[in-house]
Amino acid sequence: MIGAGIVGICSAIQLQRRGYDVTLLDRRAPASETSFGNAGVISRGSIFPTAAPGISKKIPQILANRSREARLHYRYLGQLAPWARRLMQNASAEKFELNLHALNEIVGACLHEHKALLQECGGLTLLRENGWIKLYRNAESFENSAAEQTSLAQCGIDFEALGHEQIDTMEPALNSIFTGGLWIKNTASVSSPGQVCELYTRLFTNAGGKLVRDELKELQWRDDQWQISCNSNQLNTESVVVALGAWSKSVLEQLGYRIPMVVERGYHMHYQSSSILNRPVYDVDGGYVMSPMQQGLRVTTGVEWGSEDTKPTPVQLQQIQPYVKQAIDINDKLDLEPWLGRRPCTPDSLPVISAAHRHQNLWVAFGHGHMGFSMGPITGRLIADLVVGTEPLIAAGRFRLSRF
Ligand SMILES: Cc1cc2nc3c(=O)[nH]c(=O)nc-3n(C[C@H](O)[C@H](O)[C@H](O)COP(=O)(O)OP(=O)(O)OC[C@H]3O[C@@H](n4cnc5c(N)ncnc54)[C@H](O)[C@@H]3O)c2cc1C
Repeated sequence: MIGAGIVGICSAIQLQRRGYDVTLLDRRAPASETSFGNAGVISRGSIFPTAAPGISKKIPQILANRSREARLHYRYLGQLAPWARRLMQNASAEKFELNLHALNEIVGACLHEHKALLQECGGLTLLRENGWIKLYRNAESFENSAAEQTSLAQCGIDFEALGHEQIDTMEPALNSIFTGGLWIKNTASVSSPGQVCELYTRLFTNAGGKLVRDELKELQWRDDQWQISCNSNQLNTESVVVALGAWSKSVLEQLGYRIPMVVERGYHMHYQSSSILNRPVYDVDGGYVMSPMQQGLRVTTGVEWGSEDTKPTPVQLQQIQPYVKQAIDINDKLDLEPWLGRRPCTPDSLPVISAAHRHQNLWVAFGHGHMGFSMGPITGRLIADLVVGTEPLIAAGRFRLSRF
């Protein structure tokens, strides 16, 4: 297993349970990257693909870098172009519906799979099952959520529209500035995604799983086996799963796969706050998410399109800070530097959970975008089903690599 983010860790656990002798390789300690610092929402309502009818209207605002929620490194435009072309192809009403239904199916299985693992590792105390709230500052943006509410209802997702008094009662820590909200009830959240990953890693190592800390340099099929060349080690193995999140694309390109995936970077900062939220909230008009975490109030930003390996440019954290201060009383920043994570995003918003069609004994699990923390455990289940050759728990055909 190459890559020890939430996807790699959960895949390693499930393969181990099917009788494989699994080694988990990462250049850093498990879950030191994107799986560590996300907003920790196991979101039931996040079933809407980015490629939606009407998305082209947003392009001028994005290109002008006028949105707090989306920011573009102009030097990344060349890499963005093939993804954007595929994104537009997915924006028809018909494709949108297909992608939404595939997402609804996999997202619907996320909480159950997380709970099963949390139960086993003694981590249920980290889980809150009280939903999350999308908050709207002005009446017009709340009214614009009407189509979303219809789709949520059609997909059987339990939600309730809230007025400002209900928001005040449910979240007394918030200042009374929101006119409406959507409470997505069958959503859960955790108070430390990093600790959840640590506990899951322990499930793997306690059952005999091996961790190797080294950086992958090259992956080659030679003499009927995979040779994994790293900085200090060379590992030989019969089968490999690549679960390198945002870094999967460059590794698979060496093997001849062209993947129109982009990196949507996002930042977090923890604040000290005397008022404590009961659950995560998404300030839709402010363009950020706030989650109560063990480390303090975690504020996470929207999207920054930029290369996975260029230095942090946390402009959005500065832009959203006045909006955060309007919403809740915050005191000191608790981190010396902002944290940066990299969301691996496909043009149809579906993950890639699949055999690699041009090679034998090679599987891939990446591209989980904004939902990888939620989808990690179900991805582990699916990849193990595919490797073993049993009927997958849910239909996995839409997640195949060969769709690109
Ligand atoms: C700000 C923000 C908020 C988010 N909020 C949520 C949320 O609330 N809910 C949700 O479901 N999702 C959320 N996400 C998305 C989620 O965090 C990601 O989709 C998920 O963490 C991806 O997991 P992964 O295992 O695929 O990748 P990663 O966690 O990035 O793991 C990839 C691993 O590959 C390793 N690696 C890379 N290159 C090499 C190499 N050459 N050799 C060895 N190892 C290597 C890295 O060290 C890393 O450990 C958020 C993301 C961000 C940025």
